[in-house]
Amino acid sequence: MLLVTKFGGSSVSTGEGHRQVASIVAGHLANGHRVCVVVSAMGDTTDHLVEACHRAQKGDVASLPHFLGRLQSSHEEAVRAAVERPLAREGVLAAIRPLFLELEKVLTGIAYVGEVTPRAQDLVLSFGERLSAPILAGALADRGIDAKAFTGKDAGIVTDSTFGAARPLADVSRHQVRGTLLPVLERGGAGNASSLVPVVTGYIAADQHGNTTTLGRSGSDYTATLLGAWLLADEIDIYSDVDGLMTADPRIVPEAKLIPELSFAEAMEMAYFGAKMMHPLALETAFEPGIPVRIRSTFKPDNPGTIVLRDAKPSPGKIVKAITLIRDVSMVTVSGAGMAGIPGTAARVFDVLGKQRVNVLMMSQGSSEVNITFVVPRASLDRCVNALELALLGGGVVEEVSSEDDASIIAAVGEGMKGTHGVAARIFGAVAKADVNVRMIAQGSSELNVSFVVMQSQAPAAVKALHEAFSLG
Ligand code: ASP
Ligand code: MG
Repeated sequence: MLLVTKFGGSSVSTGEGHRQVASIVAGHLANGHRVCVVVSAMGDTTDHLVEACHRAQKGDVASLPHFLGRLQSSHEEAVRAAVERPLAREGVLAAIRPLFLELEKVLTGIAYVGEVTPRAQDLVLSFGERLSAPILAGALADRGIDAKAFTGKDAGIVTDSTFGAARPLADVSRHQVRGTLLPVLERGGAGNASSLVPVVTGYIAADQHGNTTTLGRSGSDYTATLLGAWLLADEIDIYSDVDGLMTADPRIVPEAKLIPELSFAEAMEMAYFGAKMMHPLALETAFEPGIPVRIRSTFKPDNPGTIVLRDAKPSPGKIVKAITLIRDVSMVTVSGAGMAGIPGTAARVFDVLGKQRVNVLMMSQGSSEVNITFVVPRASLDRCVNALELALLGGGVVEEVSSEDDASIIAAVGEGMKGTHGVAARIFGAVAKADVNVRMIAQGSSELNVSFVVMQSQAPAAVKALHEAFSLG
């Protein structure tokens, strides 16, 4: 099989992590697979680089030596832990050393200009992955596995110039990536001890002019599924510190279990509903060519994790597969007796929200048409209410904009709900028995999920009740 294996920041937060990853890759090679590795920046490096940008923007050059010194010592320490053979170790140290000098120049430049453009920020953030990939290649070399580090750009990924959230230009990228990586992967053939493992930086690429771009935070997942799709991999493995996808948050429901298999549609619903498992576009990318995506743990490499498949086997009796929860949201209601029968009110409401860049998580309107209720992240509540009041009140149609700020969204997700009678009755029966009041309900016509809003303080009780009602433990 051809595997694309992605290792997140938590998998490589230390040099020991890089060694562990190398041993996982060695295991796949020993099983006769060809492996293309995608790797993130070490631990929280990207966050630290973001902070360094902010400091530089304020003109703070004084803290720069300390920041760079720490970055360099933590990475060099990782090299020493990850790579034992002196020659290989020296090679990696020599490969990363110039990067610190380059980063120093970039951050100093930002500090003098006093401004960090999205383009400059992407350049700064690229250093995390650029430092991490050579260390992993070194850890592989240390085990006698021939490996070569590539940046996303070297691998051939070309994006548009939307710095901070760049999107790949698919045709050129596919062509270039295949041209670069397939010969590498094919050298020596599958399972051959002399096969060469490409280690590609996640998250970063370049636009058509060669400027460094990033795919948005958590973008290494997206890099992995893009490479998987372009190389027509047999499987994409997303390794991190979670065991896989769970039937509920185990901090709320201790009996929560790992879900062995999900369809893409179910997994995407879960992603939307707060199971922060990967970059929003990552699953979609693998879905189209139908390449299975496995979510699994670096620290329990023998656990198969959760596999997401195009045609997941229908699991008999499993109507609902998971209960998900989004906290810290607020419910907003726009109401007015005059709204009934007047076209365009909903359009105006959502136009205002769009212009304010407020993300709407859920919405509903009863057939009386006298109110529209929707849910937004709590952090954008004030902005949302102010903008709506300014835009809508006083025209005689909308009379009131009201809000409640302590809400949570709960969703029951599962393909088995499609066309099954009585699921809603079971859901709301269980919630009522737990004495939890439901404030708002929505079900998409895909029938893959039923979501509803409760007061935040009552959310754990509702999640537990549903988990039990559908025997998910
Ligand atoms: N290092 C980047 C981030 O922390 C990309 C990733 O980890 O996927 O967002
Ligand atoms: Mg990260």
